[in-house]
Amino acid sequence: MEDPETGGCLCGAVRYEARPQVDSAYYCHCRDCQIGSASAFTVAIFSPEQDFRVIAGELSCYSKAADSGRTIERKFCGKCGTPLAWSGEGFPETVLLSLSSLDNPEKYRPVLEGWTDRALSWCRISDEISSYPGRPIRDFLSGTKS
Ligand SMILES: [Zn+2]
Ligand SMILES: [Zn+2]
Repeated sequence: MEDPETGGCLCGAVRYEARPQVDSAYYCHCRDCQIGSASAFTVAIFSPEQDFRVIAGELSCYSKAADSGRTIERKFCGKCGTPLAWSGEGFPETVLLSLSSLDNPEKYRPVLEGWTDRALSWCRISDEISSYPGRPIRDFLSGTKS
């Protein structure tokens, strides 16, 4: 098996390794991601939960009900505040990572946009990838796609 990918927060206190799944990255325009990213959207990518391991520092977390109604646990560096990962009942045995927190984010490309009905009018990504007005299709989010 290939070596896991590594990533971490801006201040360097938290480092992790994971096995992001090819073609599982997507733009999320939900309101929580607009605020929680301090940008206008989040780019997230799936990794099996069993392959996600913090190798330096410690994650801080809090839980919040998402736009989908499901509770999502948001994990971040308690020192610099960089959002790093999300987990929740909506995607069992899987963890979502902030794609840009990977050491090599160019290796993966987002394949779709989700929650475009919440997207800010001035935030347009691309007509060339599929978009979903709400939560992206379930088989995509199940994390089973390889
Ligand atoms: Zn940090
Ligand atoms: Zn979101």
